[in-house]
Amino acid sequence: MSRRPALSEVTRFAPSPTGPLHLGHAFAAAQAARHGAMRLRIEDIDRSRCRPEHEAAIHADLAWLGLAPAAPPLRQSARRATHRAALEGLHARGLLYACTCTRQQVGAAVEAAAAPHAGETLAYPGTCRGRPPPADGTPFAWRLDLSATGLPMVQRWDDVAAGPRAGRADVAGDPILWRKDDWPAYHLACVLDDAEQGITLVTRGRDLEAATALQRLLQLLLGLPAPRYLHHRLLLNRAGQRLAKRDRAETLSSLRAAGADGPGLARALAALDPAGPDLHVTP
Ligand code: GLU
Ligand code: ZN
Repeated sequence: MSRRPALSEVTRFAPSPTGPLHLGHAFAAAQAARHGAMRLRIEDIDRSRCRPEHEAAIHADLAWLGLAPAAPPLRQSARRATHRAALEGLHARGLLYACTCTRQQVGAAVEAAAAPHAGETLAYPGTCRGRPPPADGTPFAWRLDLSATGLPMVQRWDDVAAGPRAGRADVAGDPILWRKDDWPAYHLACVLDDAEQGITLVTRGRDLEAATALQRLLQLLLGLPAPRYLHHRLLLNRAGQRLAKRDRAETLSSLRAAGADGPGLARALAALDPAGPDLHVTP
């Protein structure tokens, strides 16, 4: 494998500072750095779950791996005004509606409307579509009225490992673009910030491939460029679950503290084929 990045591509590593980074993050960062000039984005818009110590650890862990990005990182929370301006633009086009539903109400409405089989995606059934925003101060989220966009629900994209791919943008129903806590939702912030950082190749785990059709639709709606994608395989723990913050033994800070070779680890992870079955990690 050539370790020289394909500098024609701009890739990204976009962790959320909600917990310590683990081997799965190191794999994602190593693959991003292998496939292009890696940008770092701190996805810190979920304000109740983000912690400054986790953000500091992201920088320390990347430096230990030898993967500190050349360009300054983008903190998503600093882009809130830009995210809001994009939302206002969609609102002016009549594409949004206010949703006051609680999680429990959405669940009950879904059951009443569809009685889905276990394991099916629970799509928001559009309960609040056509209603005016509440005038009494009830908190609400802004949802995108997908049917009003005039765009096809089947969206296509190019995955450098898997080839041409397609998916539906409406699997979860009309998506929330602005949350009840007055912060942007992931999909809106993600497409705006991928464009802001000049990302040409979105590198991320295949668990996020289900987000891609909706993100393509949002890119079209907002006039943003279409990146290519690399949805890489996942690292699994001994129980066969995607490595997560609960797998404390595999945190990068614990490996660093144990004296492991960071750049060596990054090289080994970059050398792995991003395609193929998910990989079990036996510590
Ligand atoms: N912030 C997300 C995560 O930590 C990544 C989102 C993305 O890559 O689009 O899993
Ligand atoms: Zn609603």
